[in-house]
Amino acid sequence: MTSRIQRLDPTTASRIAAGEVIERPTSVIKELIDNALDAGSTRIDIELVNGGRRLMQVTDNGCGLHAEEAALSLPRFTTSKIRHIDDLYTLTTLGFRGEALPSIAAVADVEMATRPVEQHEGVLVQSHASGAPQAHPIGCPVGTRVRVQRLFSHVPVRLRALKSVAREVQLVQELVAHYALAHPQVTFQLQHEGRRRLFAPASVDLRQRLAVVFGQELTAQMLPVYWQSLDLVIQGAVSPPMINRATRQRQYCWVNGRPVRSPLVSAALERAYGALLPPGRHPVAALGITLSPTLLDVNIHPRKTEIKFLHERAIFAGVQEAVEMVMQRLAPAILPWEEDAGTEAWQTMSVPVLHVGEAEVPYDLRAVASEVSALQPLGQIGNTFIVASGTPGLIVLDQHAAHESLLYEQLMAAENGSLELETTLVLPLTIGQYNYVNRLQPALAALGFQLEPFGQQTVLVRAVPTVLHTLLRSGNFLEALQEAMQRTTPQSSPEEWREHLAAALACRTAIRAGDPLSTAQMSSLVEAVTQQRLAYACPHGRPTHVTLSLAELERRFLRLSPSKSEQGGA
Ligand code: ADP
Ligand code: MG
Repeated sequence: MTSRIQRLDPTTASRIAAGEVIERPTSVIKELIDNALDAGSTRIDIELVNGGRRLMQVTDNGCGLHAEEAALSLPRFTTSKIRHIDDLYTLTTLGFRGEALPSIAAVADVEMATRPVEQHEGVLVQSHASGAPQAHPIGCPVGTRVRVQRLFSHVPVRLRALKSVAREVQLVQELVAHYALAHPQVTFQLQHEGRRRLFAPASVDLRQRLAVVFGQELTAQMLPVYWQSLDLVIQGAVSPPMINRATRQRQYCWVNGRPVRSPLVSAALERAYGALLPPGRHPVAALGITLSPTLLDVNIHPRKTEIKFLHERAIFAGVQEAVEMVMQRLAPAILPWEEDAGTEAWQTMSVPVLHVGEAEVPYDLRAVASEVSALQPLGQIGNTFIVASGTPGLIVLDQHAAHESLLYEQLMAAENGSLELETTLVLPLTIGQYNYVNRLQPALAALGFQLEPFGQQTVLVRAVPTVLHTLLRSGNFLEALQEAMQRTTPQSSPEEWREHLAAALACRTAIRAGDPLSTAQMSSLVEAVTQQRLAYACPHGRPTHVTLSLAELERRFLRLSPSKSEQGGA
């Protein structure tokens, strides 16, 4: 097998902005989390002892490394992520310098136990501040566990520069919270000396993540942000103006999944609040920006905590507009600060309150535009996309992702009913499937299924969730069960089973790409956009629809609006 990890050529290596990366425990944890995410992990466990000085351990369930690759991961400039400097323009991973592990190994004892899924045995690679790395076979689960011990024991100056144990743990906790916001689909856990400091279970609902980081009470008040143009998506949540802080510490930003500090984004955010914010105060925010890696320079900061947007003005305008839209929904109940409304006015302001766990408020990743008037379906493109037009502009829906997302939402909705089938479905199962269905019985019942055992390995389906009544066949039901089975473990919670089942059922029963659709079918999907029932992304995270607004079209055709330009006769 040729190793995925290779040493960068000297020119490429020299062009990568590097430096003294390891300053304190957070620098180590950051690099290890980046690696775990780059390895496709869905669960990342972080453990510290003595604030990280004695031990920092990061365990992931990602792709793992082969023995020869593991030994290669410790030298400098060895990476599996880029080969040439130009690769940075298409980078989709968080790491790229091949420097993190060696830099850590230079100031601490590093040990990596790792196993890829196709190997029965793992490998343990140990490096010490002095001496060459050693490798031994070891039994371990699929994934990677990196253990960093005795940080800075040979660098007393840096050891002395560390803050108190409590402070270092606090910094790590902030960092993990930032990652948790940027990657809600990954479970994160942080423990210090056996005590849990943060637990963020994987979730498709950003609200749950917000609650882990900001607490239930604040999350209930946060306002969802969703804004999209052709090549930029901004999503997250911001606080109403009366919830504000003296510093910007509670403003979290991430760009393409990379937690960053961005003065530009903060400035645009605060510009949108304008006079609504008391002077010298800052809103609370969690904003994620997604754009093409070609519009980004990630190679400007040694710790990769800052990035440079190639089109700063477009980003500024996008963030400002996204947040302004949210603020406009609050008006006119909110009086601008300049009118000196006084503190009582701040307290009596009515702000739509979002309650965590209550379904009636559209929240997660949904478009927030308040009046999307009726859209007219124009037709299908390639039997895959539906095109519609209306006041908001031109909307293109991915027919499968849109239908899948609607079915998923309906299945997960509390009031999702059950409907008896005219002809009972007979499901012949394998022993494994039969046991699995038995275990899933409560989750299936909660979704609206009524199943009955029929002999040793057969199950009768008498009733199904109302939304699936005309869509469910024994074939797609079996496929969905199989898919959910692969995505869950016996340890999964009932809630996880339900989510995975709902996602698998939605995917298997939804209209497929390539299906020709009737006008009625197109209209019903398009209507979901009009009624703002369509989430931005399907349960697998793919977008359901893209809006090309009138303003965007005008910009693209260089047709400035009359208010901004002189009335030309063009
Ligand atoms: P970089 O992330 O910049 O490539 P690192 O020094 O952080 O450099 O890691 C070197 C290489 O080791 C990575 O390119 C990757 O192939 C491998 N690696 C490191 N950590 C992990 C992990 N947790 N799971 C799988 N592979 C890993
Ligand atoms: Mg890395």
